Amino acid sequence: MLDFNEVDKGFDIKKATEEAARCLNCKNAPCKGACPVSVLIPDFIQEIKNGNVDKAKEIIEETNSLGSVCGRVCPQEKQCQSVCVRGIKGEPIQIGQLERFVCDNGDNHPVRSASTPPKEGNLHVAIIGSGPAGLACAGELINNGVNVTIYEALHELGGVLSYGIPEFRLPKKIVQKEIKNLQNKSVRFITDVVVGKTITLQQLKEENDFVFIGTGAGLPLFLEISGEMLNGVYSSNEFLTRINLMHAGDFPNVDTPIKIGKKVAVIGGGNVAMDCARCAIRLGSDVALVYRRESTDLPARAEEVKHAVQEGMKVLELSIPQKIIGDENGKVIGLEVTKAVIGELDDKGRRSFNEIPNSAHVLDVDTVIIAIGQRPNPLLSKSDNSLEINEKGCIVTDKKGESVISSVYAGGDAVTGAATVILAMGAGRDAARAMLEKGRII
Ligand code: FAD
Ligand code: SF4
Ligand code: SF4
Repeated sequence: MLDFNEVDKGFDIKKATEEAARCLNCKNAPCKGACPVSVLIPDFIQEIKNGNVDKAKEIIEETNSLGSVCGRVCPQEKQCQSVCVRGIKGEPIQIGQLERFVCDNGDNHPVRSASTPPKEGNLHVAIIGSGPAGLACAGELINNGVNVTIYEALHELGGVLSYGIPEFRLPKKIVQKEIKNLQNKSVRFITDVVVGKTITLQQLKEENDFVFIGTGAGLPLFLEISGEMLNGVYSSNEFLTRINLMHAGDFPNVDTPIKIGKKVAVIGGGNVAMDCARCAIRLGSDVALVYRRESTDLPARAEEVKHAVQEGMKVLELSIPQKIIGDENGKVIGLEVTKAVIGELDDKGRRSFNEIPNSAHVLDVDTVIIAIGQRPNPLLSKSDNSLEINEKGCIVTDKKGESVISSVYAGGDAVTGAATVILAMGAGRDAARAMLEKGRII
């Protein structure tokens, strides 16, 4: 049976040097322009060519404090690699792999390992949430001498990097290393604090010069079909949290169990759905992905789909879930789906689908995992109704990330809805810069 160890082993020095040698060092660097945090791609690749991996890492860290993470999970094929000149007539440079190699193997930049704590009289900032948005915000602030405290609701730090993305894609030691770097620089972390319950936003605002909200999008969406309350139905959040955060795969050596059947349907088509499918396969189940459009439309990273299929996931494309069927004890025994055909492009440019009449049939499954998306958790905004929230439950901010409450900033999934690690990081960093500007540090 497959284990939870990392699947993609990355580049060694030989492979990294060969790949770097293919880079044309383009003057206009389209790759850099397509990276949400503008990593100086040709420059760091040049340092690999020069044999100076430490310097390459220093260059990446000028704009990206989580290079080992992004190199692994960024949708590179839609970002930096999508415009690589080498891709016009062949394969684009594998920028993500090179970034991962450099950040895994380069030495720490001296600034990163500095441990001089900020002076008490300097600015104080409270950050709510320890996901990529909060961590990137903290990194930028601490490097500028700000006193930073991160409040995290869970007992572990890292947000989705810890409780969502599984070990076989992102080893937890990578995330812990990044957190340790921040701790070494005197960022304070306080876990098991739910802001809005344990303490209020108002309290944090009174005790600090600025507050940054990076609470993510942790509220799972459901299909609103019958049978979603049956035993054997999981939201992706519950399923992945049990496995990644509570290590339920090791039950009974740990406290949290996971009950999973032999035949699992995962509903959805994004990265979250792939992670659920690949975890379920590792727990010994047969897994079918139930998806409304065609396989070629799957929004998940191509790499993740490839791995999931290689590991045994079947894709039931053009299938629309209609109801989950239970037995007399309330346990899942099937999923009714109807077939679909692809229609015109919708207003978001995605291919629409139309249900085929009289095509209903029942899939023989005993577990259903719903992975159709998440929204921001309303807990904090409900506890403080002075925050402005849009119709999707996201916090409204201005261009600099400031909310309608003066000196309270927000960024990442809490503002955009479920998005990507790199976008959340970029938002955290930009909000930090706006705070530094407003606090007259830069
Ligand atoms: P989060 O990472 O969600 O962190 C928010 C943190 O805030 C959490 O730790 C939460 O516990 C804490 N929090 C919430 N409310 C409170 C409160 N009231 N008080 C205190 N703390 C609070 N993106 C990619 O780029 N590539 C991928 O391959 C990818 N795969 C994914 C797989 C899964 C399973 C999931 C769920 C997401 C994936 N994403 C991926 C998306 C990406 O992880 C998110 O966009 C990113 O983590 C958002 O960062 P964030 O800091 O805004 O929020
Ligand atoms: Fe590419 Fe992401 Fe790295 Fe930017 S952060 S260079 S988009 S892999
Ligand atoms: Fe190198 Fe491609 Fe960027 Fe050109 S576009 S500098 S070839 S990575």
